[in-house]
This record gives sequence, C-alpha cells and structure tokens, in this order.
Amino acid sequence: MDQQTLELLRELTEAPGLPGHEEEVRKIVAKRIEGLAEVSHDRMGNILCKKTGDPAGPRVMLPGHMDEIGFVVNAITDEGYLRFTALGGWWDHVILAQRVTVHARKGAYVGIIGSKAPHVLTPEERQKFVKREEMFVDVGAKDKKDATKRLGIRPGDPVVPICPFAQMQNRKLLLGKAFDDRVGVAMFIDTLRKLAGAKHPNTVYGVGTVQEEVGCRGAETAADAVQPDVCLVMEVGVASDTPGFPKEDKEKGTLGKGPQICFLDGGMIPNLKLRDFLVDLAEEKKIPYQISMLTGGATDGRPIHIHGLGVPTVYIGVATRYIHSHAGILHSDDYDNAIRLIVEAVKRLDAKTVRTFYP
Ligand SMILES: [Zn+2]
Repeated sequence: MDQQTLELLRELTEAPGLPGHEEEVRKIVAKRIEGLAEVSHDRMGNILCKKTGDPAGPRVMLPGHMDEIGFVVNAITDEGYLRFTALGGWWDHVILAQRVTVHARKGAYVGIIGSKAPHVLTPEERQKFVKREEMFVDVGAKDKKDATKRLGIRPGDPVVPICPFAQMQNRKLLLGKAFDDRVGVAMFIDTLRKLAGAKHPNTVYGVGTVQEEVGCRGAETAADAVQPDVCLVMEVGVASDTPGFPKEDKEKGTLGKGPQICFLDGGMIPNLKLRDFLVDLAEEKKIPYQISMLTGGATDGRPIHIHGLGVPTVYIGVATRYIHSHAGILHSDDYDNAIRLIVEAVKRLDAKTVRTFYP
C-alpha cells in the first residue's frame, strides 16, 4: 500500500460522519478528488465524481458509503448525562465503556459510555446483559443546564466512536474506526487516481453515498442521479479468521487472502454474469480473491441493483475484523488487490461487455 493511500485511509477513518452527518467526509472526498474527476452533488448529500473515458460507453457506478455507525443524543438527564439512540446496527455488548466524541453546536467534547465498576455489581448484575437504553454518555457536565447551556448539547447531536488509525506490528495490518465504509470511499478515490491518464471505454462515477447504515437511503437517489448501466459496490466484508468461526468459513474472509467477491448477501443476488466476469478476470490477472456469502446485512447494492430496469451489480469487499464496533482490522494487500481488480474491470467494461450481463 502506498503512503498516499495510508494517509487517505487515516484522514477518512478519523473523520466523524454519522448517517445524515457526512459533511466532513464529503469535504475530504471533494479535496482528494480534485483534478481526478468532475464533482457534483444530489439533494440527499451524495457526492458524485465523474470521469469520462468514452462518453458513448456505459456508465459504471462505484459507490462507497461515507457514513459510519454511531449514536445521537436522545435526552439529557438532570445530572447532565446523555441518553442516546443508535444509528446503524450495533450489538449492545460492544457499546459499553468506549470513548466517544459528542459533536454539539458549540464544540466537540470527549466522553465515555459510562459503566458501573465491577466492585459494586451484585452477582446477578454481573451475569446481566446491559441494554443500550440503560447506558449513557458522560462528558463531564455538571448538570443538565451545564450540558445544554454552556456546552450547547441538544438531542440529535452526533456521538461518534473514537479510535485513532494505526499500523500494527505487522505493517500490513491496519486498525481503525469506520472502515465500514471509508474503505469503499477510499477505493473509488484510488480507482479514479489509478485511471488518471488511462483509457477506459465508459464513464466512471465514484459515488460517496449517505445514510447507508440506516437502510441504504442515499444510494436510492444516487442511482437516480447516475443512471448506471453496471455497478461495483465498494465495501468492507466480514472477516472469518478469528476464533469462533466454523473451519469451513475460513476461506470466505481470511485477511491477506484477497478481496471478497460476494456471491450472496441479505439484500442482493448479484448479476451472475458480472460476478463471473470478475472471477475470470481475477484468475486471468492472477489477483487473489475469496468468495464470500453473507446471510445477514446488505449494501448499497440492494437499492441500486433494482433501480430503473435493473442494474447488474456485484459487491466487492475487503475482509475486516470486528466491523460494527469501535475498531476494525484489515489487511492492506486485500485493499490493493481490490483496486487492481476494479481498475482492470473498469478498463474492460465497454458497451459490448456490459450487454453480455443483460439477458
Ligand atoms: Zn457498509
């Protein structure tokens, strides 16, 4: 992975960007895409980055969602603690005792999701599963007035996980927050960077979408804005190489074994001809890949593949451990190989090839 991509991932993942609050990520995309593509926006907040190869060729959509899962303030207690509501799919086990930033009108405040010390827990409480409704954020406010008047905290304010980006002892392993889906955002930026000065028989739209984590809402209007003929969804995928996965699932998502071509997810059966076009291309170019199957969860592919008369769509993932928590781990080779595969695919997606995906 080159330094430019590392810095891009650091900048993108450390930015806050809850569903509906993607402004900072959008700014980073606009800055990084300068000179590589024509930028426009739709009214939902999606950012469209268009690079024309052959204006008569097909429109290739490469969406990556800008939002990340997090929380919003729901209510403020008399004592100044913040009750919250989740945006996106959280598992209550991973919420407790984590550092967060609360973004209010008057400033951003570090806080922690409060928990009881084990010393004061009864044996029954220790066995109990703490529900998110019982949790709260502590920003150190004196009381409700202090939180609302002095700090300017209001219901609806974003509460964003904190996890600084890091290269691990194995420099190819990257740790950070919001890989889901700043990885996808970085992927279309890097794809456009690699296509600079190259010939491609189509028009490419890298699209930073909004509000994926609350039901792929941005992708609906983005598909309308782009009117794609074919779509490659850029995402993270579930890694299956940690303890607790069945042995037979290892090959679906082992870090370092190649990008995942998703053969099924909870929201889309991919276009089979496009899927096999990617598989054959990976084999030909000797790009490692893994076949993933996801029973739960969907991507922006869900609304895009059923847009208009239908759009041949496949989801390409970078296997990531611990997604939908505060921090994830991925392997930089998987990212690089995903880019290789996507760039090769874009170079071949001419009108004739895209037509073969249709019945
Ligand atoms: Zn995602």
